[in-house]
Amino acid sequence: MPEFFNVVPPTEALDILLRNLRDIVTDKEALPLSQTLGRVTAEEVIANENLPAFPRSAMDGFSVRAKDTFGATEGLPAYLDIIGEVPMGQTPQITVSEGQAARAYTGGMLANGADAVVMIENTLEVDEKTIEVLRPAALGEHVIQVGEDIRVGERVLPNGHKIRPQDLGGLAGLGLTSAIVAKRPRIAIVSTGDELVPPDQAPLPGQIRNINTSIISALVIKAGGVPVVLAIAKDDFGSQRAAALSGLEQADILVFSAGSSVSSRDMTAEIFQSFGNPGVLLHGISHKPGKPTIVAMIKDKPAIGLPGNPVSAFVVFNLLVKPAIHTLMGLDRSTEPLTVQAKLIRDVASIAGREDHVQVSLIYENDSLLADPIFGKSNLVYTLIKADGSITIPMDTGGVYAGQSVPVQLY
Ligand code: AMP
Ligand code: MG
Repeated sequence: MPEFFNVVPPTEALDILLRNLRDIVTDKEALPLSQTLGRVTAEEVIANENLPAFPRSAMDGFSVRAKDTFGATEGLPAYLDIIGEVPMGQTPQITVSEGQAARAYTGGMLANGADAVVMIENTLEVDEKTIEVLRPAALGEHVIQVGEDIRVGERVLPNGHKIRPQDLGGLAGLGLTSAIVAKRPRIAIVSTGDELVPPDQAPLPGQIRNINTSIISALVIKAGGVPVVLAIAKDDFGSQRAAALSGLEQADILVFSAGSSVSSRDMTAEIFQSFGNPGVLLHGISHKPGKPTIVAMIKDKPAIGLPGNPVSAFVVFNLLVKPAIHTLMGLDRSTEPLTVQAKLIRDVASIAGREDHVQVSLIYENDSLLADPIFGKSNLVYTLIKADGSITIPMDTGGVYAGQSVPVQLY
């Protein structure tokens, strides 16, 4: 059986891939705010205004001069005359002088001359014209100051930031109704194999339905890219090369599924190399599942050969293709991946010199989170469907034991 030479650790494979993407310029586009959720900023955003733009009451109550309330207690309240109100959305038409108060509403402006707000709960209305203030208000109390939320010139969002719902609110609040974001990278997906038929066809004996294209397309969308799905390519050089060429013309990254191993039927490496240098950068990673993995550069575009087994394709996509998509979008990846700690309930064996990815299902029991490893061959796609996440067993570790706390990367 042919052997892999020079398998590289997965982290090194990722380094090699990302190093080759360094000089690729992120394409930008300006989009209306409503279309930017989940997109990645391609420029930092600087505040063009102060927020709030005027001092706002943080409470329902009365705007007052703080010094008129000094020393007020329930036993010895300060008596203030109500001179009117400042309606919401309007500038004050009234001015409080010594011993006076004006009705204030949450988010509204203060009366002229006022420098604090007494919340309604700390007052008693003696009659329509008078309140008792039961506690002193400090200068500026319950007042949101100009620029307290954000100031002109401050950074609203960094470059490379994935836009969240609250970010849209922050931009809207400043009147920034569009944002400059990275274009979504296009990922061409070619599933190869004589045994494959599309999911809407009944396979003959020996044939199987194409699982990987569905998984990979969805992973592309989840990573922020646009899948460009090509037809299944047969295991012959001409078909696969034509598919690769078409994919490269239409997309920023080319992904091949299957044929990535080293037997005579496995053609992906040969196809990638047929376009000339740089060609195949590495073939084989010390990772389970997913050893038969290929990373290539075809001119200035990355091409990745994923293993055909669905679980391997899924795992290696997350290991290499997802970070490549993020890098092309200029996404700051320092916040990835999200993990939770869980207690392993069974031993997981591994061998040193190889990184392992093991699917786990999570169980809540007596307020603690348990991780149950799911074992199964990498051809069994339902091991992924039962999983809530996966654990990584590092290269230099011989295994992890029941009772150990492990970080689980969530799906
Ligand atoms: P290969 O890399 O071609 O040796 O494929 C490895 C295994 O993955 C074989 O059992 C294939 O039948 C299976 N396989 C390859 N491509 C797909 C696919 N698109 N969907 C489901 N299984 C696949
Ligand atoms: Mg095959």
